[in-house]
This record gives sequence, C-alpha cells and structure tokens, in this order.
Amino acid sequence: MASTLGEFDLIARYFTRPARNATLGVGDDCALLAIPSGQQLAVSSDMLVEGRHFLPGADARKLGHKALAVNLSDLAAMGAQPLAFTLALALPAADAAWLEGFSAGLFALADEQAIELIGGDTTKGPLNICITVLGLVPPGLALRRDAARAGDALWVSGTPGDARLALGHVWGEWSLAADDLAAMRARMDQPAPRVALGQALRGIAHAAIDISDGLLGDLGHVLRASHAGACIEADRIPASRVVQAQPAARRRACQLAGGDDYELLFTAPAHRHEAVLAAASKAQTSVACIGRITAAPGVTLLDAQGQELPAHYAAFDHFRTP
Ligand code: ADP
Ligand code: MG
Repeated sequence: MASTLGEFDLIARYFTRPARNATLGVGDDCALLAIPSGQQLAVSSDMLVEGRHFLPGADARKLGHKALAVNLSDLAAMGAQPLAFTLALALPAADAAWLEGFSAGLFALADEQAIELIGGDTTKGPLNICITVLGLVPPGLALRRDAARAGDALWVSGTPGDARLALGHVWGEWSLAADDLAAMRARMDQPAPRVALGQALRGIAHAAIDISDGLLGDLGHVLRASHAGACIEADRIPASRVVQAQPAARRRACQLAGGDDYELLFTAPAHRHEAVLAAASKAQTSVACIGRITAAPGVTLLDAQGQELPAHYAAFDHFRTP
C-alpha cells in the first residue's frame, strides 16, 4: 500500500492485538484456531462496498461497527456463538483518522461480543470491507433456513422498518424531524446483532434468518428452503414509535420490505410459545409472534381486521434501488 503509513505499520498499529482464544493471531501466513470438541464451525462472509452498502463519506467508527455487526448477525441467525473473524480491507488511502475511528468501532463491538480478529488482508483500492466470521454451534442445533414446518409460529425480534425509514429520508422519499431521524439512523448505522437471542433459541426455534434485505424477501428464502408458505398479520409486527407514526402504507412498506435492520425472523413449534418468550427474556431482546407457517406455498398478508393486504410489498433488491 503506497502511502506514508506502510501496509505492515498500518496492520500493526490498527489491527493487531494479542491473541486471546486463538493459538496464533495476526502476523503469520495463517491464524491457528482450535475447534472445541463437540462443536461445528459456522462460517460466513459479508462485504460492504462504499456507495452500495453505505453512503460515501460515512462515519468511520460507525462503519467499523456495522461491518462487524452484519457479519455477527449471520452467526446470530444460525444460533452460533461468535469465535473469531478476519478482515479484508481495500482502502483508497492510509488515513490515520479514518483508521482510528474504524478500528475503534470494530473492536468496541468485537469486545462486547467476545469475538477476536485473527487475520485478514489489506490493499489499496476503492473502499471495500470484507469480514469473515467464524462461530461455534453444537451439531444438530444450528437454526437452518430449511427447518420451518407447517404449523410453526412465525416470530420476529425488535422493531423492523426503522433502518428503511431512515434510508427513505436520506434518499429524499420523505422527511423526518431531526430527533426522529437520529433515532432511526442509529438503527441503520449501528445495528445490534441479535447474537444472544440466536443462541438462546437453540433447541427451541426451527428455522431462522436475519433480516438484511427485507422481512418478506428474507422470509421467502426460508419458505423456499422449507417448501412451505406463511400467513402474516402485518399489524402484529412491532413498530418503533417513529415508524408507528408514519402513514399506514409507508409503515407497512418499511416493515415488510425494508432491509438493514438485522432483526431475527424465526419459526418455532406453536407449543413452544412460552419457551420462545423465556429465551427472548434471557437474551434481553423483545420478540413478537407475527403469523404462522402454512403447508400451502405463498405468503398471505392480513391486516388487523383479517382482511388480505395487496401483496405488492416487494423485497429490497440491490439491483433495483438507486
Ligand atoms: P500475506 O502476504 O501472507 O497475504 P499479509 O502481508 O497480507 O500476509 O498480512 C500479514 C499478516 O497481517 C497476516 O497475518 C494477515 O492475516 C494480517 N492482516 C493483513 N491485513 C489485516 C487486516 N486488515 N486485519 C487484520 N489482520 C490483517
Ligand atoms: Mg495478504
């Protein structure tokens, strides 16, 4: 990396910390990790590209948080316990202030979730952040997308729609008051991955997925994998105060089709209702039952009166949006 701060200085200064659980961390050709017996390794990568997944000029500290958060969210959706991660970074320049902010945001969340940076790659190029997370889950307990069963209750964590409401303001689709915008932007910029909830749901939930592309779109992945359908009571999806105050059509669109909230959408046998609530309480995460899985394919959306809603709330699609 051609700049005043050399590639190896940069790695040493901003991304090297003593190994904790790893046998060998940053600095050699590979990191070395022991996998405890009786555990499976869960592996996932997510890339964040400037202008696609975050706005140009985004705050570096928040970006450090979000880059790791979206990856931790995949571990959460699998019911896996975070273990370690790698970081592949393309940077337009070795900007010390940016690197300080980015690494501070990254390590603050890493410490909170007890996950350790064990290696990566650094190169000059358009800003691009790719993280690979490694987690642990006992065999047979992962929350797979193909595990939903007809008759399961459908649950969601948190208040979906907040991030999309913030994004609509940024895109000029609507306008939010300053304090409402701040609350929604915090949800968009610094999502809280539901790691504790995912692990608490092991052995209780059947299928799970994190909502990155929109509730309906992500539900579709579960339904296709599980060869099932769903019936959702749209008005039972919990809404934040700000989303609740929006006109009904906007609220529904944000909640059903808006992505980037990183809430968990999961199914569980109907008779495990109390067990789900206990798991959520243990994980200090709110959850709500919003519908059920059906044997018949397709999704039915009902309003509070039981009337069917038009099914035009398409999922967020990276290739259709500005
Ligand atoms: P190699 O030449 O074998 O690809 P590098 O010179 O790219 O190794 O990296 C040197 C060491 O620094 C390796 O241990 C690598 O995992 C680590 N590393 C490189 N970039 C990062 C980064 N952004 N964050 C953490 N570790 C990194
Ligand atoms: Mg390398």
